[in-house]
Amino acid sequence: MRRKQMLISAFLLGLAVISCNHPKQRQQSGNSGTATISVEAKDSVVAKQAVNTTAMVYAKPEVPVLCYHRISDGPKSEYRVSSATFTSHMKLLADSGYHSIQPDQLYDYLVYNKSLPEKPVMITFDDSRAEHADIAAPEMEKYGFRGVFFIMTITCNKKNYMTTDQIAQLAKAGHTVGLHSWDHTMVIKYKEEADWQKQVAAPKQKLEGIIGRPVEYWAYPNGVYDHKGAEELNKYFKLSFTLYSKRDSLVPLQTVRRMIVPECTSQALLKSMHRTFGK
Ligand SMILES: [Zn+2]
Repeated sequence: MRRKQMLISAFLLGLAVISCNHPKQRQQSGNSGTATISVEAKDSVVAKQAVNTTAMVYAKPEVPVLCYHRISDGPKSEYRVSSATFTSHMKLLADSGYHSIQPDQLYDYLVYNKSLPEKPVMITFDDSRAEHADIAAPEMEKYGFRGVFFIMTITCNKKNYMTTDQIAQLAKAGHTVGLHSWDHTMVIKYKEEADWQKQVAAPKQKLEGIIGRPVEYWAYPNGVYDHKGAEELNKYFKLSFTLYSKRDSLVPLQTVRRMIVPECTSQALLKSMHRTFGK
């Protein structure tokens, strides 16, 4: 009897290890325990890492994630900051001891409890504007910051938008390149398989061809999502980013919150970050 129990336990343990090889699938299951997986380290030593459940991911303190759109000295608009303002924001973040983090780091923090640098901030850009490569990236690089650039592939090589060479160069310089759909159609409008193909699968593949590496992060057009869409995106991406929307407690990795940065002083930016993310 006792031997039988041991055999069953061993079998269940085996199942637990196998089921944890796909952390994203496991988080969807809503299981509330902690499990361990075997990960092959560089030096072939097998290391154990904790894998957080959905509830644990959802409970982790949020990290400030900023979202810029236009950086231009042209007419004022809701989604525009001037180049001088952008420059002052980066300087104050650096002077205040912030460290820019990449989505890979945020994912590892949320899923594996890896530590983040002190005062982490993620700096993201939507809509593939040319000034992201011309102004934002060089300005950030002055401080050792790296950003995250979400691309609509329909704009590649179009006037006022980044060229494919600029996008490839950003990735080469250590920035992250993510996807922002093919033509900015919102996820809630993807009804058929063909829509997912056109807005997600095909442009993801195209972008991967441009940068020569996997594209693992998504920003929702207009920041708008629904639960079904978030679950579908979980098949394609490690993390997806909204704007101010409430996070989905069942799919927290696909509903990471960001704040839009308006034209404002750098002190006002810090206050907004504290108000929005509590740090
Ligand atoms: Zn957008």
